[in-house]
Amino acid sequence: GRVTHFDAEVLATRGSQTELRARHHMERRLRQAIAAGELRLHYQPLAELASNRIVGAEALARWEDAELGPVSPVVFIKLAEETGLIIDLGRWALNTACQEAATWPMFESADGIRRRMKVTVNVSAVQLSQPSFVRDVAEALVDSGLLPRTLCLEITETAVIGDMHATAKNLQEIRDLGVTVALDDFGTGYSSLTMLRDLPADVVKIDKSFIDKIAVEASTDSVLARLVIETAHSLGMSVCAEGVETNEQAERLADMGCDTLQGWLISKPLAGSEAFTEWLPTAVL
Ligand code: C2E
Ligand code: CA
Ligand code: CA
Ligand code: CA
Repeated sequence: GRVTHFDAEVLATRGSQTELRARHHMERRLRQAIAAGELRLHYQPLAELASNRIVGAEALARWEDAELGPVSPVVFIKLAEETGLIIDLGRWALNTACQEAATWPMFESADGIRRRMKVTVNVSAVQLSQPSFVRDVAEALVDSGLLPRTLCLEITETAVIGDMHATAKNLQEIRDLGVTVALDDFGTGYSSLTMLRDLPADVVKIDKSFIDKIAVEASTDSVLARLVIETAHSLGMSVCAEGVETNEQAERLADMGCDTLQGWLISKPLAGSEAFTEWLPTAVL
């Protein structure tokens, strides 16, 4: 029959109650999964253009729940951030990535020097604002035996909407440990230039949304990507392009002087490091 205003309101309420229940259920399952050590890290390799070699990999959290099936990190990371679970999840990711990366083999870089592969770990705003965060990072290094320069922390612009000064201070202390810092999803926030000015960082990661149309001649995205690369280099930072899917994009980025590439062109995120450590001695592009 006819849905009256009242009925619609009742239905809407019922809908949101169902959503709320589902959300609580997922939160409960995620809490249990973290406690039971059921989350995993997958690793997506990073290729250095100068040497045409894998030089590191980004750790990406994965959760497959027995009832809910595989849940996208976009969904469960957001939930974890909203519920405070990100503190435990983030500490687990940091410790696990350091421990696993400590076992990765060495590689020969463009300058012919043997180096350790790098591991990059995503850090949420909530973690970065914790007074204990710098100590957590130092502990993860000591416990794993990983060299500080082998660890890179990725932070996003949205992560620093809060107290820029406190964030900058924490980041500087982390860099004082010898750990490198990357600005993730660069260009997608509304204060990219402020970030470059105020946050101490070593690497800029150009967001995939700029890379998608980079091969289109004179497209706004390709002009902006070139600008970001040149600006970062002028400030002494290196540049990583994320979400590179085609050879054409890789060629354009090489022409623009981009330092490292990440994306399906090289590899999707992988369950173990075995696969990509095998490619260490070989050209990837
Ligand atoms: P992100 O840090 O920007 O990671 C890159 C995302 O792009 C990953 O999605 C990756 O699988 C995907 N990707 C990489 N190359 C390509 C490509 O060539 N094409 C396409 N279409 N996609 C590509 P994923 O694994 O679903 O992770 C989503 C987001 O979840 C991450 O975005 C990151 O913000 C967050 N995340 C994942 N793990 C963690 C974690 O341990 N801690 C925190 N705080 N956030 C995490
Ligand atoms: Ca990232
Ligand atoms: Ca990113
Ligand atoms: Ca992204």
